[in-house]
Amino acid sequence: MKEVVLAKYGEMALKGLNKRTFEDMLTKNIRRRLRPLGSFTLTRAQSTLYITPDEENTDLSEVVDAVGRIFGIAAYCRACVCEKDFADIAEKSVEYLENILSTAGTFKVNAKRADKAFPMKSPEICMELGGIILEKFPHLTVDVKNPEVTVTVEIRDTNAYVHGENLKGAGGLPVGSSGKAMLLLSGGIDSPVAGWMMAKRGVHIEAIHYVSPPYTSDRARLKVETLCEKMTPYCGGIAFYCVPFTELQEAIRDNCPEEFFTIIMRRLMMEIAQRIAAKDNCLALITGESVGQVASQTMAAIACTDAVCRIPVFRPLVGMDKTEIIEISRKIDTFETSVLPYEDCCTVFTPKHPKVRPQLSDVEKAQNSFDFEPLIQKAIEETELKTFNA
Ligand code: ATP
Ligand code: MG
Repeated sequence: MKEVVLAKYGEMALKGLNKRTFEDMLTKNIRRRLRPLGSFTLTRAQSTLYITPDEENTDLSEVVDAVGRIFGIAAYCRACVCEKDFADIAEKSVEYLENILSTAGTFKVNAKRADKAFPMKSPEICMELGGIILEKFPHLTVDVKNPEVTVTVEIRDTNAYVHGENLKGAGGLPVGSSGKAMLLLSGGIDSPVAGWMMAKRGVHIEAIHYVSPPYTSDRARLKVETLCEKMTPYCGGIAFYCVPFTELQEAIRDNCPEEFFTIIMRRLMMEIAQRIAAKDNCLALITGESVGQVASQTMAAIACTDAVCRIPVFRPLVGMDKTEIIEISRKIDTFETSVLPYEDCCTVFTPKHPKVRPQLSDVEKAQNSFDFEPLIQKAIEETELKTFNA
């Protein structure tokens, strides 16, 4: 039996005049993501994308897996391709859906007749096919309100399609449709989740990571690279900037009051991130901060950090609990990597008593006691770029 994958867009279908641009972007993203899995023809009709393998024997389970991680798709399913002939539809429905129909208790048939030239009307298709299914699976009963299985028949231009289960898609908007932003990616649990959440809103993510060798190890950097790899099935390709941060951190340690170490470090991170962001057309920064989680994430500390930022800083986890963040990190498969115990530059030179309610004027005074500019420029010059493809 010939099979296709149907992907339905959700929110995007509402985008009016922009719909075309969103559809094009989604189609492009799907094409890119499916390239390693074979050759496919993509067609679209009525807020649905039809993904047809060009060769027989293509493994559709991998395709379904990939499609389930692509933002912009609200629901998706595998479907059986039938002739536009009721006898063929009935025969294939019974065979194709045998597994789910034999284990379910209730069902209904839902027919959509886009091709009005098809001789049977939708209610007639439902009645006839329902009768045939009941005959073959006598244990079933019809439940039109809350069926366990909805057998859907779609009569389209060139073919008819039959499918059973509808799987929930990744939702959101196609990556790239909202522009680009720079994610401050540590090796922790939070920032990969923050990146995933913004990618869900159509933001193309680039990542920046600060390393402080010899205080941080190569393994810590490799761990963050693994996180990038794990994010690509959702986020698409990621440009990864790795910034040497040791000299700046040592300069903070040698020149600033200890209680401001972390806050000044964070301000320098933001400064470097936004300069690299500007060169690469990123319109915002993204962090994994959540209010109150640690001393540098109090509202007063966030205000001091944001005072250096000239572009918006998105903190999609700002109101979330750690347990909620962990739940997502497990779902997107970054958790196991995030909990590997390698040190981050944030934990180098941490003050014993960080200021939880820093005043901006005090922080600025502490930071102005040293000219960080030459070291900022040097760090940017020595930044390494690596690209992770989807
Ligand atoms: P995470 O779990 O993402 O590491 P966290 O709860 O450990 O977050 P912090 O270590 O205070 O919090 O970092 C706050 C945010 O600052 C991180 O979510 C991340 O966006 C950014 N950040 C921290 N360390 C780095 C780093 N070495 N490189 C890039 N960004 C970083
Ligand atoms: Mg961290």
